[in-house]
Amino acid sequence: MSTILTDNYNRFHDYLRISLTDNCNLRCFYCMPEESYEFTPASRLMQADELFSIAKLFVDLGVKKIRLTGGEPLVRKDAGAIIRQLATLPVELTLTTNGTRIAQFLPLLKESGVKSLNISLDTLKPERFSVITRRDQFQVVYDSIHQLMEQNFHVKVNVVVMKGMNEDELLDFVVWTKSSPVHVRFIEFMPFSGNRWTSNKVLTWQEILEIVGNEYPIVPIAGAAHDTAKKYHIPGHAGSFAIISTMSNNFCSTCNRIRLTADGKLKNCLFSSSETDLLTPFRKGMDIKPLIEKNIRSKKKELGGQFTQDFEKIEATELTNRSMITIGG
Ligand code: SAM
Ligand code: SF4
Repeated sequence: MSTILTDNYNRFHDYLRISLTDNCNLRCFYCMPEESYEFTPASRLMQADELFSIAKLFVDLGVKKIRLTGGEPLVRKDAGAIIRQLATLPVELTLTTNGTRIAQFLPLLKESGVKSLNISLDTLKPERFSVITRRDQFQVVYDSIHQLMEQNFHVKVNVVVMKGMNEDELLDFVVWTKSSPVHVRFIEFMPFSGNRWTSNKVLTWQEILEIVGNEYPIVPIAGAAHDTAKKYHIPGHAGSFAIISTMSNNFCSTCNRIRLTADGKLKNCLFSSSETDLLTPFRKGMDIKPLIEKNIRSKKKELGGQFTQDFEKIEATELTNRSMITIGG
């Protein structure tokens, strides 16, 4: 096995997240920058054949799992063709999507062997959904989640928890897991360029556990080696819930994730301040393996080297990063 994907802390990166586009049909305020935002023109994005070749190279180097994300991956015109192509690689293929286009893509997802999807839904209240996403699509997303579960997909629902916005709905999400086999993941609110993050909007892992624990008996579920989520079960519930505690209790020491942005830049951490352009040299016919190796070796020990677990001290405006929509969460 090649060591190109192993960093200086002996972390082997076998999980590649590929952003298909920085375009989206929703406008979640915590993801899109506040200022007016120009989507990257299609010509500057990896074209389908380029994306496949670069993905295949990573698979040859040891990648075992590929997640497509964005922006919204399913708004890209050739998303279907890309999914079909990637499905030919020997990897677990999965997606993170806002769930608005699932109905059109269901047959293709099945054919392509996708078994599990992450769908983002931060509220169970339609009016609040419109405030958070600035679009009126709650019912479409909610129905899509149920449609996927009926078709036996493993569905994880990503909920970004923000104080003053949706922390009053934690128990409603937990109630949902009683009758439905839905796996809710509460995500601590993270700072990105232009997303109005302040530390007092973060509801921490411990605070979330306390709110749920006051109402329900909680049983921790043993995690797998590279899990980012701390998982819990409530006896008698068909589904489960989990907490992604990036801000209060990070999981950097076992990280196995790397990211390829839609414009072909390799990012070794969600919070890395730098990135490596792979697409330009790839288009020139150069061998990009040495660039990949250098990028992975430069991965910082935790949180992109930009902040520490003491998140109350973070000044979001001082972080050097892209906005979440251009990284691919
Ligand atoms: N459009 C797709 C979606 O919404 O699922 C995929 C891209 S989105 C950037 C990927 C994930 O990042 C979503 O679950 C979203 O909720 C999460 N996310 C975006 N901004 C975030 C933030 N500031 N803090 C925590 N999670 C965030
Ligand atoms: Fe779009 Fe997903 Fe970002 Fe919302 S979180 S704006 S759906 S990319």
